[in-house]
Amino acid sequence: MKKRVILGIVLLLCAGLFMQSAALAKDLPKVVILATGGTIAGAAETETTAGYESGQVGVDVLLAAVPELAKLADCTGEQIANVGSQDMNDEIWLKLAHRINELAKSDDVDGIVITHGTDTMEETAYFLNLVCHTDKPIVMTGSMRPSTAMSADGPLNIYNAVAVAANADSRGRGVMVVANDEVHGARSVIKSNTTEVSTFISDDQGLIGNVRYGDIVFFRKPYAKHTHQSEFSVEGVKELPRVDIIAMYEDADGGLIDAAVKLGAKGIVTAGLGNGNLPAAALESLAKAAKGGVVCVRSTRVPTGLVGRNIEIDDDKLGLVASYELNPQKARILLRLALLKTTDPKTIQDYFGSY
Ligand code: ASP
Repeated sequence: MKKRVILGIVLLLCAGLFMQSAALAKDLPKVVILATGGTIAGAAETETTAGYESGQVGVDVLLAAVPELAKLADCTGEQIANVGSQDMNDEIWLKLAHRINELAKSDDVDGIVITHGTDTMEETAYFLNLVCHTDKPIVMTGSMRPSTAMSADGPLNIYNAVAVAANADSRGRGVMVVANDEVHGARSVIKSNTTEVSTFISDDQGLIGNVRYGDIVFFRKPYAKHTHQSEFSVEGVKELPRVDIIAMYEDADGGLIDAAVKLGAKGIVTAGLGNGNLPAAALESLAKAAKGGVVCVRSTRVPTGLVGRNIEIDDDKLGLVASYELNPQKARILLRLALLKTTDPKTIQDYFGSY
């Protein structure tokens, strides 16, 4: 009899605890984690092997590695893809954008985290920044060390990313990249180092904020248009226009520009010299392409500073577009989305001024 009473009390206590934690989970912000692969989901043979394979571990395993997430948010995971981000492609981008737009409409979702490889993180972040129409936090994260490595950087990056996604003050800051205790804006962030955990930088434009073990300090909001303010959309879009990036260097000729036109490029971005300059022969090919209706944007291979109009090249005369602050890979994304709406270089130049 006594045993039964004790058992009853234990059961009641357990039920109470369960209901309490269920109630707590109900009160926590709801964050959906969309996994796409990358080193964060990568595995190596040993804790210290440098070689590894990206995209080996599923979202459930990633989340199970960070049980502390339960204190920050009511998290659910979805596997969108599982690739090294060197294999990121338009198909996954469109799937990701559609899913984010769908989730963001739901009252049951407060924030979204995307796990992603670091190689093309800046491109996916900027693409989503232009086509996801919500002010709810969208936060990307990844890691430089695989999940099996000694001192793997993934778990704390996920923890911090969820903290940012769950925070109401993160709303309206566009797509962010959280890694190594820093919060970067999608427009500014670049990968700057091939192996170090401090790879992401936001040089000229600066950080959006800082996050230490889930404690966030915001410094700024992005000044260019993004997410809920964006006029670009991939609703119903099955294919994005082809835009090629052509690198410039000492004595570069126009052969690769001509080849891109032959391959059917609707736009060309040059990774130019200095303030977006091109050697004379390459410039001749670019001007010819622009005359033929291919929209040509001059960006630069220089990592910082902006490319201005009509500095050493007469953009007005040649019908070219200057990339301003966008590096070649980001300029390519804005141009691809712009080409869904227009081929007018003047309108596209205005887009470069506001996005
Ligand atoms: N190649 C990997 C990727 O981008 C690198 C990383 O995630 O750090 O998927």
